[in-house]
Amino acid sequence: MSAQSDDPDLQGLLDTVNDLLALMDQALHDQKYTDTDTGFANADYLEEQLERRLDSAEPPDLSLILLGIPNWTLVFETLDARETRQLKMALRQRLQRSLAHDELAATLPDGTLAFMVSQVTEPKLRLRAQHIMNALEDPFSLGERQVWLSAVAAAALGQPDGPGSTHRLIQSARAALAESRQKGTGSFVLFEDTMRAQRHGRLDIEQTIRTALRQGWQASFLQPLVDLQTGAIAGFEVLSRIHHPERGVISPSVYVPVAERTGLIRPLSEQMLRQAIPMLEDESLKAHFGERFSLGVNLSPTQLHDPHLADHILQILKWENADPSRLKIELTETAVMADPNVAIHLIHRLRKHGVAIALDDFGSGYSSLAYIRNLPLDQLKIDRSLVSGVDYDSEKRAILEMILTLCERLKLDVVAEGIENEAELSCLLGMGAHYGQGFLFSRPLAVADLLEQLPATGLLRSADAGESVR
Ligand code: C2E
Ligand code: CA
Ligand code: CA
Repeated sequence: MSAQSDDPDLQGLLDTVNDLLALMDQALHDQKYTDTDTGFANADYLEEQLERRLDSAEPPDLSLILLGIPNWTLVFETLDARETRQLKMALRQRLQRSLAHDELAATLPDGTLAFMVSQVTEPKLRLRAQHIMNALEDPFSLGERQVWLSAVAAAALGQPDGPGSTHRLIQSARAALAESRQKGTGSFVLFEDTMRAQRHGRLDIEQTIRTALRQGWQASFLQPLVDLQTGAIAGFEVLSRIHHPERGVISPSVYVPVAERTGLIRPLSEQMLRQAIPMLEDESLKAHFGERFSLGVNLSPTQLHDPHLADHILQILKWENADPSRLKIELTETAVMADPNVAIHLIHRLRKHGVAIALDDFGSGYSSLAYIRNLPLDQLKIDRSLVSGVDYDSEKRAILEMILTLCERLKLDVVAEGIENEAELSCLLGMGAHYGQGFLFSRPLAVADLLEQLPATGLLRSADAGESVR
């Protein structure tokens, strides 16, 4: 399956794509860490920086201020696209101005703005938060119109309280912001330990995973993998969730890293495999989506070092009388690169029994194509960072086109991840991409919801797929 290295055409293609990917690295890094909507840093970057600063100073020399804009939705509903852009830019400029060089503004997933600031005493922090809220005091001029944004703020002081301190800091500030919102426009609330106690204690992720394992809180959600050319559902990716009785659904991006650090990934993954593999033979899924759908299961880097993992997976397949060729193991490039020999051994063992292997998150910034052609792979999953905005970013389009050509030569299936809108879809269709996954088709769902919400007939209604997604 791997390419012949003496094929000069292929070598040329590999070199070109490699060069382009290297060029994109910086751009992808920026994009990976930038919230495209507001232009501020994103939550991942904020967390990284908070962690770095919390670890590097004793006591920590930072605090987190959150700014909520209660009338945000109301205001934006009245604006057209150009005014929206103008307002966001003006907002960014005003807020950016109030930051020192070692401070940072970021957008959290729910739209709250977060500021990592250097004030660490209560009076200074209050003043600082007031200063940030003041930036919204004057109206914003959008051509003829003027709009006002309302503000509430909250803050939490950085605490040197060991692993997980970044998440606790964000949660503390969020708890304070919730109080502040209740108090109304112009309010500021500082998180204090008493509040910490009032709210149901801090969310100790490690403890949550342990309880989840005992209480069966882990659930497997499925997200469809769509054949873009026909609209048929070809299979699903299994995505783990923890249902906390008080906190609701917790995302794997929160607990998988903790599980990896603490070794809990092994029992967690064991539980997940035991949930997921039987789904291959689940009668209602088969009746609804046909007998041949595939299931993609994610493995973390540290799991690859488990010498019994391959046997274990094969054993569960056997117990469940499930067809190995419909199971796909998703590995990231980072996991493979960490110890290529171990990874290749695992891959060979699984493939020998018919299990398919996908390389996950390809193009997420650290890709090297040198390895790809020597890896025994069945599928390449192109990371969302390359797919998102492909309709207007010609550089991404060029890279994607080359990756698609390369995969065709290498006889690798390609999945475009994170397709969110029809413009991206029709662009990918135009390039001949075969498979896709993304919120446009469906979010990850529990099996019962999947059966209820997804039509067995597929997710595109006609040949003109770009305009007919449900
Ligand atoms: P991943 O393997 O890259 O999974 C795809 C992630 O992208 C999922 O996030 C999915 O919900 C999200 N996604 C899918 N379509 C879209 C879209 O159109 N737009 C956007 N913005 N996102 C989209 P999720 O479920 O939060 O999982 C995050 C990561 O956690 C996964 O990334 C995977 O690395 C890890 N993970 C999830 N389940 C497991 C598991 O059972 N075991 C291990 N080891 N890791 C897991
Ligand atoms: Ca995956
Ligand atoms: Ca992925």
